[in-house]
Amino acid sequence: MSGKVSGVKGMNDLLPPDSSVWQHVEQTVRELFARFGYQEVRTPVVEDTALFVRSVGEATDIVGKEMYTFEDKGGRSLSLRPEGTAPAARAYIEHAVANQEPVTRWFYMGPMFRYERMKTGRYRQFHQIGAEAYGASEAAQDVELMDMVVQLLEALELKDISLNLNSLGDETCRPAYQEQLVAYLQAHRDELCADCQARLERNPLRVLDCKNERCQAVVAASPDIQTFLCEPCRAHFDEVKRKLDLLGIHYVVNPRMVRGLDYYTRTAFEFIASHPALGTASTVGGGGRYDRLVKQLGGPDVPAVGVALGLERLCLLLASEAGRYAAPPDLFVAFADAAAAEQGFVLVSRLRKAGLRVEFDPRGGSLKSQMKRADRTHARYALVLGENELASGKGQLKPMQGGEPIPVALDEVAAALVTR
Ligand code: AMP
Repeated sequence: MSGKVSGVKGMNDLLPPDSSVWQHVEQTVRELFARFGYQEVRTPVVEDTALFVRSVGEATDIVGKEMYTFEDKGGRSLSLRPEGTAPAARAYIEHAVANQEPVTRWFYMGPMFRYERMKTGRYRQFHQIGAEAYGASEAAQDVELMDMVVQLLEALELKDISLNLNSLGDETCRPAYQEQLVAYLQAHRDELCADCQARLERNPLRVLDCKNERCQAVVAASPDIQTFLCEPCRAHFDEVKRKLDLLGIHYVVNPRMVRGLDYYTRTAFEFIASHPALGTASTVGGGGRYDRLVKQLGGPDVPAVGVALGLERLCLLLASEAGRYAAPPDLFVAFADAAAAEQGFVLVSRLRKAGLRVEFDPRGGSLKSQMKRADRTHARYALVLGENELASGKGQLKPMQGGEPIPVALDEVAAALVTR
């Protein structure tokens, strides 16, 4: 077969200079999350399909419609992970982490896979930054996570992102709410889209997530989960709000925000941006408490809360600043002749060893074309090596943004550049 092979639809290549934006976000995450005591966990991209069926839930869109599931050569049903919370919980249980420490704080970054309809900000391979905290059922743990996200958005200088907050109750109070919700939705069945009519049977809470305008109109007048919360859930939610107030974090209580996964209990939250670059994919991240999941997956009875942010969406918000995060070379070295190229090649290697970012054009060529190349790289300085420079051991650092050339001994170039 011949001809061009294209990449897979919905799965993107990341090229410079955009990759520098990603690196900037990833680096900011690593620095900030470390301040909060979150350590990195890396799990495989592929898991046993049963893991997601039992956690995310069979009746969710993610598991029911969007998973990349396949059989391996040993006949096992495996899936590309559609999210990171279940794999992290699986690893937490498998390595008996609860026996080693009472509170565990983990973060992860990596690709997730969902066979979704594509549009701006929605892909089939996308990347999430997630954090999970195991062991504490207190509101302080929920708020710590929200605080960490708020500080991340601030560090990235992202504005106009609002925090939506809700409590989904627990197994004590949610059934009564769910019953009333189903009764209400049944009464408005004809106004719902076909998908939601099916959801009504299988997983009625998901109707609240539907983006269809007519469904949203029905949802807007649906029962308010806040009025159903049992006393402990109410107290927990009040404490979450009080602690957010204490930190000066603004939020909006949205009683119809339930999120698309089954495992949440009590606190649920979403960070929503109002920025044209995202179109309708305005949720940059979300999370919540999942006090039952670890036990449900066969582990100890450990409460937990987590969050996941979409890396593509954060980077879309920063895209106009791609140039800002690319690190240009400190120096470009140009060679006037073959002898200079020979010695200069050694000098370039030495300068790199000394910690400088240095480039040259391996093709050689005319000085004019090499200087053009120097310009393209946005190098801070250029150094031309020729017969005179090699004979005298001296050269000139030419500032590429204009200004007087700076005389320098060739064996002191590194020192000269470090001080500038
Ligand atoms: P979820 O796990 O669905 O709560 O998603 C958490 C975050 O991941 C969302 O707020 C998005 O920022 C991001 N995300 C989810 N699905 C996609 C997708 N298909 N493409 C790009 N980003 C996504």
